[in-house]
Amino acid sequence: MDRIALAAPAKINWSLDVVGKRPDGYHLLATVMQAVSLSDRVDVELRPAAEGLSLACDVPGIPCDARNTCHRAAARFLSLAGPAGRTGVRVRIAKRIPEAAGLAGGSTDAAATLVALARLMPGAVSAADLAEIAVATGADVPFCLFGGTALCEGIGEILTPLPAWEGIPLLLLKPPFGVSTPAAFRALSLDALEDRPDTAAVCRAVAARDLAALDRAAGNVLWPVARDEHPALGAALEALRAAGSAVARLSGSGPTLFAAFADPDARDRAAASSVLDALRGAGWFLAPCATLAHGPQEVDA
Ligand code: ATP
Repeated sequence: MDRIALAAPAKINWSLDVVGKRPDGYHLLATVMQAVSLSDRVDVELRPAAEGLSLACDVPGIPCDARNTCHRAAARFLSLAGPAGRTGVRVRIAKRIPEAAGLAGGSTDAAATLVALARLMPGAVSAADLAEIAVATGADVPFCLFGGTALCEGIGEILTPLPAWEGIPLLLLKPPFGVSTPAAFRALSLDALEDRPDTAAVCRAVAARDLAALDRAAGNVLWPVARDEHPALGAALEALRAAGSAVARLSGSGPTLFAAFADPDARDRAAASSVLDALRGAGWFLAPCATLAHGPQEVDA
């Protein structure tokens, strides 16, 4: 086998708390992440060594050099792979996940690249090395390697899998502007965090498959930062709540909002509501999808 195609799922954060800061400035998190069915497609192909590492992406603004997460992940993988690493690799990314959205688009592409390379070169890199490459590539990459539902701590590298909760109907709603994740974290005042979740209760609610309990326990300390910078997000969150969602929150550092519904009909009615229709008309991205119990998965090449 010399090529593989994977669907690389986006993630949402059921909750996100900041519990400290490392001396090097990285924030220590306690966040419950959830893979969702909105996915990029990542094709990875082994090529003659002379061709080196090359990347293509169907979205013009996304860099295809060493700034791309897939490039960084593949280069690290090849450098640790010994003789097997002396090969050319071509990565093609078809983006469906909006960028700079709080949906881990770049991280999941990198995770899919690593999963693909590990399958194309079995045994070339140990599981421990793969985990190290993942965290060195980006804080969300370790979660994206496995997907499903997990409590992620440290800077994202300490994963505790939670019981799978597949098929919860979701809407993702992203405004026509992005936010910078580093800037959102810089704006946080650790002494005065608002909207803190009860992370243990979020984990229990996930295990009990209880959306009402999840809604009571959830929170995202980055929400006040996003809402203050972009007041339109506050109105959009209220619209999602008024449209019948059971849980509606900011994903990661935003600006994407997600809403979870008790059943697909409730989700589809909300998507068709006049308020959300008006936002779509104003350039907001609205994606119906659902929770997933896995990470990158093979699709037809
Ligand atoms: P996270 O939720 O992990 O913080 P995000 O959704 O906020 O991620 P990304 O979609 O990963 O953000 O994009 C952040 C920036 O990274 C983009 O502006 C883009 O230029 C750059 N980037 C590098 N590689 C990729 C990639 N494979 N896909 C998307 N963006 C990428």
